[in-house]
Amino acid sequence: MVNYLKRYRIPFSGLSLGTHDFEFDIDKAFFDCYEYSIIKNGNLNVLVNLHKQENMMVLRFHITGTTTLTCDVCLSAFEAKTDIEERLIVKFVDEDMAESTEEIIVLAKHEHELDIAGLLYEYINVHIPHYIKCSEQGDNIKCDETVLAKLNGLTSKQEETKQTDPRWEALKNIKYNQN
Ligand SMILES: [Zn+2]
Repeated sequence: MVNYLKRYRIPFSGLSLGTHDFEFDIDKAFFDCYEYSIIKNGNLNVLVNLHKQENMMVLRFHITGTTTLTCDVCLSAFEAKTDIEERLIVKFVDEDMAESTEEIIVLAKHEHELDIAGLLYEYINVHIPHYIKCSEQGDNIKCDETVLAKLNGLTSKQEETKQTDPRWEALKNIKYNQN
């Protein structure tokens, strides 16, 4: 699995100063490498435009294609159009002293390649919408009516029992905070 991710590396040490383009593909095999990935499947193309300078590199990522999302409402899986743009700055330093931040990665001068698998994983997962619904992210699809009907039956029952004392809610919060 780790071996599979080796293809998501950019060997930059031999590159001349200036811009260079790289292309990668992401599919199920990629997501399979990440046990805790919320996205389990997708079909994405990654274009990386790398601008190499004397002491740094600026990388622009453009990730397009589809990811398989699970609807929060009817729980069915569907393909959602995905279009993600990210930028990353890589700085070269003499020692591994400086710390990397979210947008700036610091690499020691002797490094020769940039592993972008983790970055791609992060970019894709960070862009998962907070609220996923067939009709929102899907392409001309609607929620599964039969599932909705069943779920509606369940939630109305749940709501009847949900009318609890606010003091009890406060106690529950305390309990969870102790963990
Ligand atoms: Zn749905």
